[in-house]
Amino acid sequence: MENEESQGASRSEELCRRALNRTPGGVHSNVRLAGSREFIRSARGAWLYSVDGRDYVDYLLGQGPNFLGHAPGQVVEAVSDACRNGVIFGGQHELEVRAAELVCEAVGWADMIRFSMTGTEAVQAAFRLARAATGRTKVIRFEGHYHGWLDNVLLANRDGRWGPASNGQLAAHLDDFVLLPWNDLDEVAAALARDGEEIAAVVMEPIMINAGVIEPKPGFLQGVRRLCDDYGIVLIFDEVISGFRLGLDGAAGRYGVTPDLATYGKAIAGGFPVAALVGGEELMDLFGTGEVNHSGTFNSSVMATAAVVASVSSLIDDPPYERVAQHGKELMNGLQDIGAGYGLPLRVVGLPQAFHVSFGDAEVTDYRTLQQLDLARYEDLAGTLIDHGLWVAGRGVWYVSAAHGQKELDAALTRFDKALASWTSR
Ligand code: PMP
Repeated sequence: MENEESQGASRSEELCRRALNRTPGGVHSNVRLAGSREFIRSARGAWLYSVDGRDYVDYLLGQGPNFLGHAPGQVVEAVSDACRNGVIFGGQHELEVRAAELVCEAVGWADMIRFSMTGTEAVQAAFRLARAATGRTKVIRFEGHYHGWLDNVLLANRDGRWGPASNGQLAAHLDDFVLLPWNDLDEVAAALARDGEEIAAVVMEPIMINAGVIEPKPGFLQGVRRLCDDYGIVLIFDEVISGFRLGLDGAAGRYGVTPDLATYGKAIAGGFPVAALVGGEELMDLFGTGEVNHSGTFNSSVMATAAVVASVSSLIDDPPYERVAQHGKELMNGLQDIGAGYGLPLRVVGLPQAFHVSFGDAEVTDYRTLQQLDLARYEDLAGTLIDHGLWVAGRGVWYVSAAHGQKELDAALTRFDKALASWTSR
């Protein structure tokens, strides 16, 4: 029953009030603290529908997982069919074998896979494996790359200094990481000349999508690969975002560089919570002998593996990659043109599958140069875009799905134009 206080309030406001009573910040992931407080009723294809009757063209895609669009029929049906016969067994089952075979074959270079629930866990499993295999402790990582929310990977830059991003985070857990600017091979070579014998792994997003959708410079990935070989270091590509989005073989395939281990998530399972660590047999089988522990009650559940089999099969049988790229290109050009029409220095760069929108014209190759753009100005615009029916992230990364077609393109550009008209006349 509605109480007096909530009379006249929208359904979203009412739900938000209730959420705040029982859920810190009203959200279950801190990433969403900065997002819209419009509550979603349902989602289909490339569209979100709110409890208050609004619709949104979705370019956030649940932070990436909905690469096949929302509620892709074949995946949802496969999951519900499979789950009718049991959800979790505490034993092995055929779907997990098929999912493992399918992903390894799609990725191409990987012999073996372990599934987990989240990208965060897959990354931790990769670190453990690398440390066990090399007998070394330290890991090289890069400024602006995101690898999950745990104590040893969560970083923030405050006043030019990198450190823990959260109160309560054990700062000492960051001590085993060497933080370098990305895309600078000389920096990596110098760090290895100093500490090479202590480095177990180098981890990176092979294309830095989380911060700015920045591509690797020509030769950078190849150079890091060579250095890792020289020093006996495990190269880990964190493909949680790029995996299955840029193609079946992810960024490794796009840039032609094979890591020793790679993490996947998001686009691997049509929206369902699944991540994976893949790699060569020699490394991965350290889990199999029991020398290295990797566990999880919900790993390779029926839901997870049915979702992987259905999603990856769909990506193989009916590859959406050209469609996605076409939509992305037209959208990027359209946004750029509309921005120019308002005399705004709008900057739209990246790949059509995942691109970045901001203000400014700096040449951006890493986190430091990204800061030369006016990111705060875009964040402000993003609020207006949401108000005009475009579901986008404040940090400027736009994702395109297989469900985005001409209708969505027309709607997106019309809404973007209206949003800019309103935003520039404030
Ligand atoms: N690695 C990368 C590159 C990511 O983008 C993310 C999540 N955005 C993660 C790891 C962590 O994944 P999850 O949120 O599933 O734990």
